[in-house]
Amino acid sequence: MPLRQTEPLAPGRTRSTDLVDELAANGRLAHDELVALITGATQADREYARRRAAAAAQEHFGNRVFVRGLIEFSNHCRQDCLYCGIRKGNREAERYRLDADQILDCCAQGYALGYRTFVLQSGEDAWYTTDVVVDIVSRIRAAYPDCAITLSIGERGREAYQRFFDAGADRYLLRHETATPEHYARLHPAGQALSTRLECLRELKEIGFQTGAGFMVGSPFQTPDHLAADLELLADLRPHMVGIGPFLPHHQTPFGDRPAGDVDLTLFLLSLVRLMLPTVLLPSTTALGTARAGGREQGIQAGANVLMLNLSPQDQRAKYLLYDNKAVTGEVAEMTHAVQRSLERIGYTMVVDRGDHPEVAR
Ligand code: SAM
Repeated sequence: MPLRQTEPLAPGRTRSTDLVDELAANGRLAHDELVALITGATQADREYARRRAAAAAQEHFGNRVFVRGLIEFSNHCRQDCLYCGIRKGNREAERYRLDADQILDCCAQGYALGYRTFVLQSGEDAWYTTDVVVDIVSRIRAAYPDCAITLSIGERGREAYQRFFDAGADRYLLRHETATPEHYARLHPAGQALSTRLECLRELKEIGFQTGAGFMVGSPFQTPDHLAADLELLADLRPHMVGIGPFLPHHQTPFGDRPAGDVDLTLFLLSLVRLMLPTVLLPSTTALGTARAGGREQGIQAGANVLMLNLSPQDQRAKYLLYDNKAVTGEVAEMTHAVQRSLERIGYTMVVDRGDHPEVAR
């Protein structure tokens, strides 16, 4: 009996698939077109974007996924972001700090397992003065000349950033959080400003860091207009890395009763970012994996090409809680191998590589 063709081989053209093609061709769309795409794309249109994004990632990176060793070294924070579980105002948070020796122990464990990028992330903790951070970076640089060092420690200022870079840090992650000043003001207390954040991003890029911006999907008060502005900011800034994950509530914050961000919309935005910035380093975030079982793998299938796995000591990992229900995965070697296998199941390979942005050679 002849096979019955129940589905067209190629999806029908729609306004949204045209916009996806235009985004891929030009690296940008007009604001209204981005809003139309974000609000109007059907599931089939999103699937079209996903396939195109996966093909773009394949073209530049093959089926390789870069793995980063994340070290969450302090949850003290001077900032009071309304969405974040480690905000200064959360008196219930159990605070901790790792010293330089403990951080180097995490690197040693990661290095033995094949990690060649260490991402040092913390709240904005003044205990780690510029000199202390420079000392930590210098020691990692001396011990692991073949590894990349990424910092994600917030707003510090040009002089400090320059000293971190000179000490051997290669990359810096600082999400812009939202590109719309009025929205930024609803997510942060007075005294925290989008302009400061953007100034930091500009300085980091000028200094020569591979720089990462990004935002949460579904943060309180967010509209499609805001998301379109976020994509426009990325098209202008052209960061080397983009961190996107769903907003997830933390019960000890003012947004504790807000709904979580939509996982499918997050995946769609990952695809759009891959199409806008084809060579960008794009993590499939922990938040995505927390929001949905298998979410991190779906992120890779939507165009992401980076995974950050946690090398922090297990007892401290449970205290770095930005949102509720964070998966505190087990022992590092076991967790690494489990993720490796889950990538292989979807046709990808975890690679031992610094995984620099293709346009950067240090
Ligand atoms: N202090 C540094 C900074 O501000 O860049 C790094 C640590 S900060 C906790 C890292 C990121 O976590 C933020 O940029 C934010 O987007 C994300 N984050 C914080 N709270 C979150 C939440 N409730 N849900 C999802 N992501 C969150």
